[in-house]
Amino acid sequence: METLGPGRRLGIWSQGCGLACAGCMSRHTWDPSGGASRTVSSLLGLWREALARGADGLTVSGGEPLDQPTALEALLAGAVRARAEAVAPGGPAAGREIDILLYTGYEEEEVEADAARSAAVRHADVLVTGRFQVAEPTALAWRGSANQRMRPRTARGRARYQEHLARTESGPRLQMVEGDGDVRLYGVPRRGELAALERRLRRAGIALTGASWRP
Ligand code: SF4
Repeated sequence: METLGPGRRLGIWSQGCGLACAGCMSRHTWDPSGGASRTVSSLLGLWREALARGADGLTVSGGEPLDQPTALEALLAGAVRARAEAVAPGGPAAGREIDILLYTGYEEEEVEADAARSAAVRHADVLVTGRFQVAEPTALAWRGSANQRMRPRTARGRARYQEHLARTESGPRLQMVEGDGDVRLYGVPRRGELAALERRLRRAGIALTGASWRP
């Protein structure tokens, strides 16, 4: 995945979100009983494989990752340890710069007011916070609406994301990947991008059914 953070990244999407932002493109992630169960150790196995294959980072999004704060803390703490092993001399990613980016729909104050949530986010290099507000479009890279905040939390995060904090994008922001009987979209669309994509597909004779951004 190449559209949520710098470089080529492993993406992990958590299932379940009760924030119900109007205009959310990922309504399929709202139901906490949906998705597929994965253990933290199996996800860390994917992360180690991604590091060995050259991943530049890990992005965790949702759904709402902080609705599973204990599991998220275990995942991110393990991801930090796996990264340290991989970038050490002789490791599969020796000397490379690799970051961990976490998205949440909670505001910073809501994260800090909750002990379990704040414990989980301390392992992330960069945190994007805030509900998606459909009435506040933005061209800022990797943010869906202008109210959302991107905050580096570590020296690595500051070094890697400083140039992106105020960077804007004018072109398409979605990566489309054909799945097993479906099409997956990765990234944060700019305003109108989903509708334009549907129009293009229709012209090519493809009608989307079950789009995740429709009720
Ligand atoms: S935009 Fe994010 S926080 Fe808002 S409802 Fe969708 S998944 Fe939840």
